[in-house]
Amino acid sequence: MRGKGAEAEVEVMNQGMVLSGVITAVFGVIFLLMGFLPLGILVIVGLAIFVLGIGAPPSEPVTPEDPNKRFCWYCMEEIDLDEKVCPYCGLEQIEDGSKRD
Ligand SMILES: [Zn+2]
Repeated sequence: MRGKGAEAEVEVMNQGMVLSGVITAVFGVIFLLMGFLPLGILVIVGLAIFVLGIGAPPSEPVTPEDPNKRFCWYCMEEIDLDEKVCPYCGLEQIEDGSKRD
């Protein structure tokens, strides 16, 4: 009797975060092996992202259903495309590098 009941919990974690955490940590190890000791911090950062990703909910879909909306960068609420400041969390939105004027 194995008593394995953890399989259902796999969907709870944020696989994107877990994956990027692993990649970051692997790069950190590579840099360490190459002798770039300060970049060994990436191992710690990567492990932190990994652990956070296991506890985090899955990512929201990248595209909102409404084409006139987009997701807040910070709280992931749907906001208007031209909304500069999120009405939910009050944080200024990051522009996609294309300034209109
Ligand atoms: Zn927000």
